[in-house]
Amino acid sequence: MRKILLLGGTKEARLLAERISAGDTIQVVYSLAGRTREPLLPTCLIRYGGFGGVQGLVTYLQEQQINMVVDATHAFAQIMRKHAALACQEMHIPYLAFVSEAWSAMPDDLWYDAPTVAQSVDIVEKLGTRVFLAIGRQELAAFASLPHKWFLIRSIEMPAEPLPPQHVVVLQRGPFAFDDELQLLQRYKIDTIVTKNSGGSAAYAKIEAARALRLPVIVITRPPRPAAKEFMNADDLLTHIFTR
Ligand code: NAP
Repeated sequence: MRKILLLGGTKEARLLAERISAGDTIQVVYSLAGRTREPLLPTCLIRYGGFGGVQGLVTYLQEQQINMVVDATHAFAQIMRKHAALACQEMHIPYLAFVSEAWSAMPDDLWYDAPTVAQSVDIVEKLGTRVFLAIGRQELAAFASLPHKWFLIRSIEMPAEPLPPQHVVVLQRGPFAFDDELQLLQRYKIDTIVTKNSGGSAAYAKIEAARALRLPVIVITRPPRPAAKEFMNADDLLTHIFTR
């Protein structure tokens, strides 16, 4: 039986793992970094924690006799994607990347591109007073330098790093619906939104809600990805895997 290492941590990754496992011809090992205490899991083998860099991953691939790596980590998991591509190259096994389609500005959006998190902080400095930070937990400290702004911070678990002094944290896990996002923005009188360009559908409703309320959205650009055979459509990826 073929064995796939599926690098996860996203809803799309979990669904891919379920669908590949359901075929009963391929064994899937679903890998998580271990950042979230109670992640949603697919029904297959699960492993947690880093591999120990490229060489650690090469050793893992050898020991576990992995035939293929499917990378469905978040579009901003830049290090894991790079390591996985290099390890597969070294092992001469296929590296397939699933990438959700990036969001792009629609005619009615008040859309500001921020090439980095630091640049999104600069834009917030000039733009907002009540800011919805929908960027996850890891880069929140960059906004701690803005004591005169108020922030609504949303993440799955309580952030551990330094936060801006004026804030409220809401603990929520996507997918998010348009009506709920609209209500959230109105309840907290949000005037500016900061998001990563995660792409896909699960987190897009906040952009639609911002559009409806004519609020500016600061969108952090995706980091570069390693060269890979890329798929944006789960059906195409599954067809490729099952017909190899
Ligand atoms: P990252 O910066 O690219 O990776 C840092 C290190 O974490 C990697 O070098 C690796 O450690 C370990 N790692 C990352 N993903 C892993 C996985 N799926 N399985 C095993 N080890 C993993 O990653 P990140 O941005 O912190 O993301 C961590 C996880 O959260 C990923 O699963 C990602 O899909 C998910 N996620 C990230 C974001 C985001 O905005 N970055 C948003 C939603 C979900 P070693 O070098 O020791 O192997």
